[in-house]
Amino acid sequence: MVNYKCFYFNELRVGCYLIWDDTRECVIVDPGCKDDNELGRLEKFVEENSLTPVKILLTHGHFDHVMGVQGVADKWDLKAYIHPSDRNFALSAHESCSYFGFNMKPITCEMLNISDNSTIEFGTTKFKVLHTPGHTQGSVCFHYKKQKLLFCGDTLFAGSIGRTDLPGGNYDQLIESITQKLLSLDSATRAMPGHGPETTIGYEYSTNPFLG
Ligand SMILES: [Zn+2]
Ligand SMILES: [Zn+2]
Repeated sequence: MVNYKCFYFNELRVGCYLIWDDTRECVIVDPGCKDDNELGRLEKFVEENSLTPVKILLTHGHFDHVMGVQGVADKWDLKAYIHPSDRNFALSAHESCSYFGFNMKPITCEMLNISDNSTIEFGTTKFKVLHTPGHTQGSVCFHYKKQKLLFCGDTLFAGSIGRTDLPGGNYDQLIESITQKLLSLDSATRAMPGHGPETTIGYEYSTNPFLG
């Protein structure tokens, strides 16, 4: 049985998800914590719930999603998992960050490659990686079929989809990724996006104006 907790971090309100199972091992999806104060919120929750962080999972490499990677990696001695097509975004995120007036520790922790259909394991849980390019070329979603959970980054939002006007973005490809890989999931699947509230695949299928 998997549980999760969502934190909204930095000015762009990135949804960072802490996900754990009965073993208390946990993964941290998109640690966008901008400073020690935000990192402290994660730390407090981890301690209060006796969790053991074992992996950082990245839905893509945009700076708002990876701002806290190095702080989290240092804190719990973790490696980050990312699709290779977004590795350079993550590695240069501190530069994009300063361009937008933010500050972050450059990422120096080990980053391991994930690809379509990769399996991510923690505790006794196995997530499947769905490669869903379009918002960026290396965007992925993490799917836990057993409990119908999907952590979908900036690919799909409640009532919207990820923007495609940034480098690496491609609108047609994004629509194809969502249509083929996400809308084909069980309609009861709960989708946890990188910004904004959670939704379900069925609700987006029938109401999302971009997917008509
Ligand atoms: Zn993004
Ligand atoms: Zn984002």
